[in-house]
Amino acid sequence: MKALIIGCGMVGPAAALALRRTGVDPVILEKAAGPRESTGGILNFPPNGMAILDALSCGPRIRHNGYVKVRYADDKRGATDRPLYPFIAIRRNVAARVLREAATEAGIPVEFGKELTGIHLPAAGGVEARFHDGTTVTGDVLLGCDGVHSATRRLLLPNTPKPRYTKRTYVTSRLQTGVPSAGRDSRLTYRTAASSFISNVSATGNAFWTAILYHPTQFAVTQHGEPSPKYWSAILEAEFGDAPAEILRLIRQNPPASSHQVYELPPLSRWFSGSACLLGDAAHASTPYHAQGFALGLEDAVTLAACLKKHRGAGAAFMEYQSVRKARCDYVVRSARRAGWLRNPSTHTQKFIWKLFAQFYLPILDAEAARIAAHRVPVL
Ligand SMILES: Cc1cc2nc3c(=O)[nH]c(=O)nc-3n(C[C@H](O)[C@H](O)[C@H](O)COP(=O)(O)OP(=O)(O)OC[C@H]3O[C@@H](n4cnc5c(N)ncnc54)[C@H](O)[C@@H]3O)c2cc1C
Repeated sequence: MKALIIGCGMVGPAAALALRRTGVDPVILEKAAGPRESTGGILNFPPNGMAILDALSCGPRIRHNGYVKVRYADDKRGATDRPLYPFIAIRRNVAARVLREAATEAGIPVEFGKELTGIHLPAAGGVEARFHDGTTVTGDVLLGCDGVHSATRRLLLPNTPKPRYTKRTYVTSRLQTGVPSAGRDSRLTYRTAASSFISNVSATGNAFWTAILYHPTQFAVTQHGEPSPKYWSAILEAEFGDAPAEILRLIRQNPPASSHQVYELPPLSRWFSGSACLLGDAAHASTPYHAQGFALGLEDAVTLAACLKKHRGAGAAFMEYQSVRKARCDYVVRSARRAGWLRNPSTHTQKFIWKLFAQFYLPILDAEAARIAAHRVPVL
């Protein structure tokens, strides 16, 4: 069986590795002209995601290039001393490189400059994918791992809802190493009416900061069209102008390095049609408050590979995959959304609820986050 995997971001290479273990021949087709080394930001990988990276033999390299960070329970003033679970924190572009290299080392072809523009699903089965460069590629199944603004989703399920900009933009500094630490993870948090600033220094001296900004303006994300670090520095200085001097010092010392607009995808009624199917953010993009987006994509990848191994036809495999995965993904997306508006309330109702009920809700959300991270899917 030949699988066309659309997208070489985070989930595409993981899906290819999982499929290869079941005897499927994957080929990865990515629209970017070449590997993107500059996409910054820090990703946290929770234990459920790490268990799958270990099963795909990528765990050791992710640990080697990242570092351990602990998620602590929250209270109204910020993080408490009560650990919930460990994460592996790693730069996004480094994690993407580890996965891509693991795929090429396994002999999986990765073709760049292949922007999917059309899908034909012949009645007799199989799939034909058309690309912007005028070429076509045929396969037995097509897996859309092309992210929140998925072309596969648009082509396959044209009447599904579009992703919604959540009016939040994450701005992060670069990762500094060798920073003096207190020998344990420490966190500095500051909240304004609708935005927050969190700086982390790990026990091992890795430091970075993240600002979750209420930013209603959407900007075009093109290679040259993203707002510059200077633009974000001015916004951060205005937003956190009343913060303790320590926060402004951190922003000036280690200026913004990357920004990500946060989109959420309303739940889809289905994830597949004929011989083509969606995985990862293309199927269920979540706000990042539980840091579970990629981990859910990894769970999709191994589950789908197991379903394709078990069933002969794509239809039965995709049906089982969707019925096993959808309820969990919808639940995590809902839980992350609640965590988001509770921690960063923007409307009057949300602020009112925060004031009255945060102390009761926060432990519930922390317990949900711990349960989500403790979940394990069977791996191949
Ligand atoms: C601010 C922020 C912080 C986050 N933090 C975390 C975290 O700490 N932990 C975590 O697990 N998750 C986190 N996430 C979520 C995580 O980034 C996503 O869940 C993950 O990147 C999804 O992987 P993906 O492969 O589905 O999509 P992507 O990583 O977006 O990759 C999609 C790929 O498809 C390609 N593509 C797009 N269109 C086409 C086309 N037409 N043809 C061919 N290729 C195409 C793209 O170029 C890209 O390479 C965060 C998200 C945000 C926004």
